[in-house]
Amino acid sequence: MKLVTFNEQRLGVVTPGGVVDITNLSGVESGFWPPIGMVQLISRFEELQPAIRQAIEARKPLPMASVRLEAPLQWPNKVVAFPANYHDHIEEMKQGTGSGVISKFKASGQGFFLKSNSSLSGPSDDIILPPLEGREVHHECELGIIVGKRGRGIDRAHSHEYIFGFTCLLDMVVRGVEERVMRKSFDTFCPTGPWIVTRDEIGDMNNIRMSLTVNGEQRQSATTADLIVDIPEMLAMSSAVMTLQPGDIIATGTPAGVGPVVDGDVLQITIEGVGSMTLNVRRGDVGAHSVWNAAKAGLSV
Ligand code: MN
Repeated sequence: MKLVTFNEQRLGVVTPGGVVDITNLSGVESGFWPPIGMVQLISRFEELQPAIRQAIEARKPLPMASVRLEAPLQWPNKVVAFPANYHDHIEEMKQGTGSGVISKFKASGQGFFLKSNSSLSGPSDDIILPPLEGREVHHECELGIIVGKRGRGIDRAHSHEYIFGFTCLLDMVVRGVEERVMRKSFDTFCPTGPWIVTRDEIGDMNNIRMSLTVNGEQRQSATTADLIVDIPEMLAMSSAVMTLQPGDIIATGTPAGVGPVVDGDVLQITIEGVGSMTLNVRRGDVGAHSVWNAAKAGLSV
């Protein structure tokens, strides 16, 4: 099943005929704040499945072209992200592709970080670059894992039971030496979508192919088979520290090929069995602050 959020927090299922509106089944009205409809839907998915299937049969779908898709999840409990999780990406960072930042560690020994929930954006939203002179914003093509049920201390053998589904995810980042969470948490720095594909639609989650193009030119291509910390271990490691909640998002880390994006660029992320989304990049006018000048001025804080 492919689940979408559309037209101001309405919830839907993508069918061959279009989007079937199932907002009423979540118990959360469109426009309700905070936007927790999809979190509710995921947490109650098992009990709601018969009603969802009935709705697919009975309701008239809205043509896909007539709806505006939004970030499928807008109010998760957290966005967990794994850095340095592909050997080829670690090599390119050592060689200075990432503006001189050297990765001394990999995810298997360094663990994960959090990205701000407010950085989440959707398939119809532009990626807005902060106006930071002399700084590069890089794209990182990643798979987003959607947690399906609450769990702590999850072991590898049972990890698949906690996976609800998958989505395309871009981990946008300002390269530099500042705190990672700040460099990765600008609004629109976590595009997700175009929908959540439920786990049953993915054959082998340990061999999912993904790619990213910039202005039509391929820059990143990988499979989850090449991950250092694989998907079961991401659930084990993150749930060793934190209780995972339905709707939590885990970003898998990016393969080699990261690079700067500028105003006017068009990014397309494609994940086999999941979907594809095309995003425009433009320069915004908010985001500058003296904190971004400290490193350049040689100040250490
Ligand atoms: Mn990343």
